[in-house]
Amino acid sequence: MTIAISSMIPSGRIDVLDATDPAAIRLRVPGDPGSDFVGWYNFRVSGAKDVPCRFVIEGCREAEAGRLTGREGYEDQWTNTGPLVSADGHTWRRVPAEYDGDTFSFTVTPERDVIQIAKFAPFGPERDAALISRALTDPGVRLDEIGRSVQGRPVDRLTFDADAGKPVLWLVARQHPSETQGGFLLEGLLERLLDPADAGARVLRQSAEINIVPNANPDGSALGHTRTNAAGANLNREWETPDPERAPEVVAIRSAMEARGLDFFLDCHADQELHCNFIWPSENVPGWRPERRAPFEAFEAAWAAASPDYEPGHPYPGGCPESPDLGMAWNWVGSAFPNALSVLLEQPFKDVSAHPVPETGWCPARAHAFGRSLVQPLLAVLPHLEKTR
Ligand SMILES: [Zn+2]
Repeated sequence: MTIAISSMIPSGRIDVLDATDPAAIRLRVPGDPGSDFVGWYNFRVSGAKDVPCRFVIEGCREAEAGRLTGREGYEDQWTNTGPLVSADGHTWRRVPAEYDGDTFSFTVTPERDVIQIAKFAPFGPERDAALISRALTDPGVRLDEIGRSVQGRPVDRLTFDADAGKPVLWLVARQHPSETQGGFLLEGLLERLLDPADAGARVLRQSAEINIVPNANPDGSALGHTRTNAAGANLNREWETPDPERAPEVVAIRSAMEARGLDFFLDCHADQELHCNFIWPSENVPGWRPERRAPFEAFEAAWAAASPDYEPGHPYPGGCPESPDLGMAWNWVGSAFPNALSVLLEQPFKDVSAHPVPETGWCPARAHAFGRSLVQPLLAVLPHLEKTR
């Protein structure tokens, strides 16, 4: 059998430089077209069952160009981590890797004729369809196609209806397509919201309208991009003045928020360099009122109580910018809806430092469990939201 490596799979990404020698398979991670964003890789390996394969990803230093400002003191995205590997697309294990400042190397012995290797578990179109289909088995849930992506893919919003006058919650995930953690988190949250025997979830549904955009960037997701959409836009910098040609996804979500109203927003991201789950309120926007600190603290304390995978006390990575970028969703929302609480969430790619699991690192199952724990903080924040309306 001949070893074959392919990125022509949903959310696939890798360039093969030379795969003739299983002891030295040379790869490269191509950046998002027209940008400095490098990081996401996802590919399948066939024809190597029981053969120890040494993968060497070259040129990883290129990713430095896309680092956020103020991150000089933080560990880079390649250190102290390794890829996730799966033989069935469902169960993922973490493989250790070494990074020498430019090449990222790891060894995998495939247990089957086909395996998949990725930076984090992909969340492909079939999984999006399954999530939506499952939610719509509940007669209290409806779906609107609120817009289309650059390449014409639907941008969907799920709504859990509630009586008029209840707080309106919005959760958005995967503006940055490689940050699939947001998809697994929402799967966990939805699992609870759809369980009629779950008292917390049932009360939450009775007490608030919940709007969920599970995939804000379906093109980037399908194409295997790290941060951009099909037009090369980093959607989380487009919110202040979104261009319908360049960022129709943001136009769609922003318009839907303005039409429906918004009392609470959680923007679900993941950060390649962090060792924690991180949340922060939009406290640097011009319209920030100190009264919004109490709702955030209620939300944060309840999440920490619900899951030890949320550890309070981590500072904003690199320092919270003094002048907010209103092109970022959480800042734009915090500014456009001055009575609302707008929160940024970053999950890790590596692991949390407080209660790590070295065998898997942060992984889909843990993101799912973390999403299940989100019911309690949402319940906790509701009385505070009602006070500010
Ligand atoms: Zn992000």
